[in-house]
Amino acid sequence: MLNGKTAIVTGSTSGIGLGIAEALAQTGANVVLNGFGDAMEIERTRCDLAQRTGARVVYSPADMSKSGAIENMIRQTVDAFGAVDIMVNNAGIQHVAPVDEFPPEKWDAILAINLSSAFHATRLALPGMRKKGWGRIINVASAHALVGSPYKSAYVAAKHGVYGLTKVVALETAEDGITCNAICPGYVRTPLVDKQIDDQAKAHGISRDKVITDILLKQQPNKKFVEVAELAALAVFLCSDQAGSLTGVALPMDGGWTAH
Ligand code: NAD
Repeated sequence: MLNGKTAIVTGSTSGIGLGIAEALAQTGANVVLNGFGDAMEIERTRCDLAQRTGARVVYSPADMSKSGAIENMIRQTVDAFGAVDIMVNNAGIQHVAPVDEFPPEKWDAILAINLSSAFHATRLALPGMRKKGWGRIINVASAHALVGSPYKSAYVAAKHGVYGLTKVVALETAEDGITCNAICPGYVRTPLVDKQIDDQAKAHGISRDKVITDILLKQQPNKKFVEVAELAALAVFLCSDQAGSLTGVALPMDGGWTAH
């Protein structure tokens, strides 16, 4: 389905991004992996993905908090594959603290990585998409693009911002064969959430299991973590021609959380 197309997935050395990269590669796209981690492990992931899917897979070490690095990543992709057809803005970090104790440097980092990186990657990928008359921009936002939670001021502000950016980009590209949507997951069991479980267990003096049942999954009516594979399948659908009229929306996949 995506043969001949090229996808960049930011933050794809782990978690949701890696799952989306894998699903896009399985569907025929060339893939640019990005994110941090152990260099040998990333190289193993890259080779393994290419071998299992037959896709061409390259890695960009670009730091999503730096606009110059994002420019290099887009340039590297165009040099390697000729275009960026699918831009998945997924890289993200979290920090949990009351707003009056929130470290300003953490606020700046979350806004840069979770929100501004999507702006930079989008503005740089769009001209090439317009030239081809086809493009898909998928912003991995969060249920926190739609609702708030205490102690997550920067994350919630950034994710609401991502939804706003999604709407504007969708409107500006509506006649160009390009769609822009936000996927809004509930809790997914990835390293990002595992760290939160540890932090909250310490902060509240309760067990990890209690954090999962009483804090995290309390939000989700179906009482289950969202699976990476479910999100990846949604991303693949958004890239299909059948999703050509689906643009400018936030798609919650959150076990009913935001139906409250
Ligand atoms: P994760 O920690 O498993 O993966 C995050 C990825 O981002 C990693 O590859 C990491 O190396 C990369 N990254 C971090 N800082 C970076 C930077 N400066 N430059 C480049 N890459 C960077 O987390 P995840 O849970 O898979 O999160 C992926 C996205 O999904 C995030 O935007 C997150 O906010 C969102 N999300 C996650 C959940 C969840 O419950 N896990 C829920 C809703 C939304």
